Amino acid sequence: MRLVLFGPPGAGKGTQGLRLARDMGIPQIVTGDMLREAVAQGTGMGRKAGQYMEAGKLVPDEVVIGLIEERITAPDAANGFLLDGFPRNVAQAEAMTAMLARHGVALDRVVFMDASRDKLVDRLSGRLICKTCGFVFHRHYSPPREEGWCDQCGGELYQRDDDREDVIAQRLLVYEQQTAPLLEYYSLQPSFRRVDADGDMEGVYARLKKAVEA
Ligand code: ADP
Ligand code: AMP
Repeated sequence: MRLVLFGPPGAGKGTQGLRLARDMGIPQIVTGDMLREAVAQGTGMGRKAGQYMEAGKLVPDEVVIGLIEERITAPDAANGFLLDGFPRNVAQAEAMTAMLARHGVALDRVVFMDASRDKLVDRLSGRLICKTCGFVFHRHYSPPREEGWCDQCGGELYQRDDDREDVIAQRLLVYEQQTAPLLEYYSLQPSFRRVDADGDMEGVYARLKKAVEA
């Protein structure tokens, strides 16, 4: 199954996608994580991308498209993948369609995770991430057993720089202007599904699974 999860920041793509990809036995490919990794390693690409990420803006298409083409043609993605964070605008979606066509395949599902603005801000401002393994928690909705420390690996938890209120507002604006038009691009395609992502974790997961299987 070749699957794209898209939706506004904070909709739950990362947390729900992790569970879904594990259930389905496919790799979860998260462009935000790949870019943060490049920033942490201080590569040339990381230094370039970091400036855009800090400001809540999209990294230039050519950087991200190159990164994704390399990743989805890796051997572990040969039988499928779950993509989170890409495509993020219509140019990226067109590049993705062309890229897959060159390999003789296409997307099986494009799932739009739809959540209200209040929920998004609440989720993003309380998000906590493990410095070591990247596992995602929430201060209130999925708190770690020990405050400040990861249940999975014992690593220290931190708040992403771009999960501060001013950058959240900018990211939501970028979403509306650049990513939301993807709805029109995908919604008439047979692979398209919309999932109500406003509810609690279990409810959203059940709806997501049903949408992917239907
Ligand atoms: P995205 O990848 O779409 O930006 P995440 O999966 O990182 O979003 O979720 C953002 C934050 O909201 C995380 O802290 C996560 O634990 C929390 N979260 C995700 N889904 C839900 C939900 N259905 N109810 C409450 N909190 C949620
Ligand atoms: P995310 O983890 O999905 O919230 O992404 C964090 C940041 O990474 C975004 O605000 C962008 O700066 C950058 N980013 C992630 N995916 C993409 C993409 N497909 N295109 C451009 N920028 C991206």
